[in-house]
Amino acid sequence: MSFESIYPYNGETIASYPAHTPEQLQDKLKAGHRAFQALRQAGVPKRAEWMRRVAELLQSQVDRHAELITREMGKTLKEAKAEVLKCATTAEYYANNIESMLEPRIIASDARKSYAAFEPKGIILAIMPWNFPYWQVFRFAIPNLLAGNAAVLKHASNVSGCSLAIAGVFLEAGFPEGAFQALLVASKDIEPIIADPRVQGVTLTGSTPAGMSVASLAGKHLKKTVLELGGSDPFIVLKDADLKTAAATAVKARMQNAGQSCIAAKRWIVEKSIAEDFTQQVQSLITSMRQGDPFLPETDLGPMARTDLAKELNSQLQSTIWQGAELLAGGEQHNANFAATLLAGVKPGMTAFDEETFGPLAVVISANDEQDAIRLANNTPFGLGSSLWTKDLEKAARLAPLIESGNVFVNAMVRSDARLPFGGIKQSGYGRELSIEGVHEFLNIKTVYIQ
Ligand code: NDP
Repeated sequence: MSFESIYPYNGETIASYPAHTPEQLQDKLKAGHRAFQALRQAGVPKRAEWMRRVAELLQSQVDRHAELITREMGKTLKEAKAEVLKCATTAEYYANNIESMLEPRIIASDARKSYAAFEPKGIILAIMPWNFPYWQVFRFAIPNLLAGNAAVLKHASNVSGCSLAIAGVFLEAGFPEGAFQALLVASKDIEPIIADPRVQGVTLTGSTPAGMSVASLAGKHLKKTVLELGGSDPFIVLKDADLKTAAATAVKARMQNAGQSCIAAKRWIVEKSIAEDFTQQVQSLITSMRQGDPFLPETDLGPMARTDLAKELNSQLQSTIWQGAELLAGGEQHNANFAATLLAGVKPGMTAFDEETFGPLAVVISANDEQDAIRLANNTPFGLGSSLWTKDLEKAARLAPLIESGNVFVNAMVRSDARLPFGGIKQSGYGRELSIEGVHEFLNIKTVYIQ
């Protein structure tokens, strides 16, 4: 068996990677376990030094990594560069802050001294998606390697080149051999890895069905999981919002990365009295987007990552139109290339409202008032991010707790930031990445009690 990398813009096969054999996978787990011990021995300052080198390498090699990303999954080269540089910044951030995040927490009790210590556990398996093939991996790997865990990565089958290149960065930066390894393994062959006693946790970013399947296996073998799954984030625009900024941000938050982001603004919920004005503004922005070759600097929208994903989005689009929504822009799909598309008049019960849409499809949903907007926002099985637009910050503070999601961004688009916890509720998963909460997910929080 092998994994094909296909340039989605023109369908050309660019590389083929043979899957690792079960023996090779066993060797990698052995190397991972050895590296775990070496990482522990090395201590925090040494690990931080290696991580600073990771940041330097990503910066100096940004073009090579960005080109690989664009070739394998089609995002524009400028977006790919920004992604690689965000990984570098995050590596630097954690290298500078990890010491305090791992500091034992002194807790007063009836002991002479008692505290919680944060210790690494072993190898953590990461199952990651293709949409941000570097960022999704680095945001897990950076804190975990710094905290002393080793990592093995089962990346999405269409981005094996990225997977191997990332492993190369950690090795070149000086991390012990085996500290971060790419496993070329099919989803169906993942159970022996999860079951292996050297593997102490599993983190998955991807679709809800993938999360359910991996969490079942992890439950069977009693391994902790962190799941960052799909979303159908509301982008709520109230009548007192700065409409021009809200419209421009809505388009960016939906269309960047060709709409393929878990935290994309997938449902624009707009108060009725401003819906027409908002719709006109976003329509004009969407129709002026330049679609095409992702390597060209003027391109705003590259192809989607795979033709099957574009076909799936098209079928969601067609059924939503059939259910009564109005097509205001785009709507064309050729292989993996999908035009920036706008639908108005979308309501609960329609496919684009009820399901996650993972591509450049924007929908306007009209709300009677702010209470109705919140009700619509929560009318989804997902609960990842949300964005709320109003000039009245007291109102925003009052409404934020009513939104069922892992985050609320007021007058800003949802984005991940190393300093802030990131994750969802409901069918968007559980656990947190980034921030101190993300660092602690796969650590042994050890109570030490000294009498
Ligand atoms: P998947 O969720 O299927 O893939 C994500 C990762 O999980 C890949 O590495 C995949 O490997 C792996 N995987 C999938 N199923 C299993 C399994 N049963 N056991 C172990 N690993 C598994 O995403 P798709 O690429 O198929 O995209 C489908 C939809 O998923 C999208 O349209 C979107 O809705 C959602 N998605 C959400 C993402 C997010 O950021 N939350 C990211 C990507 C997709 P492999 O590639 O080998 O199957």
